[in-house]
Amino acid sequence: MAKRSPLLLKLMARIGEIDFEECWIPRFNGRLTLADWAEGGKDVIRVNPMPHVVDSVIHELLHATYPLYSERAVRSMTGKLMKQLSDEELQAIYSEYRRKVDE
Ligand SMILES: [Zn+2]
Repeated sequence: MAKRSPLLLKLMARIGEIDFEECWIPRFNGRLTLADWAEGGKDVIRVNPMPHVVDSVIHELLHATYPLYSERAVRSMTGKLMKQLSDEELQAIYSEYRRKVDE
């Protein structure tokens, strides 16, 4: 196994001191926000899993629907489709994904 960076070990130890929340985080300057960090009484890292999950779902749906498309074409189309999604549509796709994963 590769030698562990002391920085990585320090960050892993830091996890115990931090609270985490998973939630939708509003866009910043029109761009999807994947995570942020807020200093308060206790540090909180908020993670928005929706953009990554929906990006992956759309990517794999394209493979499933168009099996002959190249990886490069699927990546390109996924990026274009992600840009077209409103927040509500993105959240709706995520909810449908979550519902099916949890059933
Ligand atoms: Zn792929």
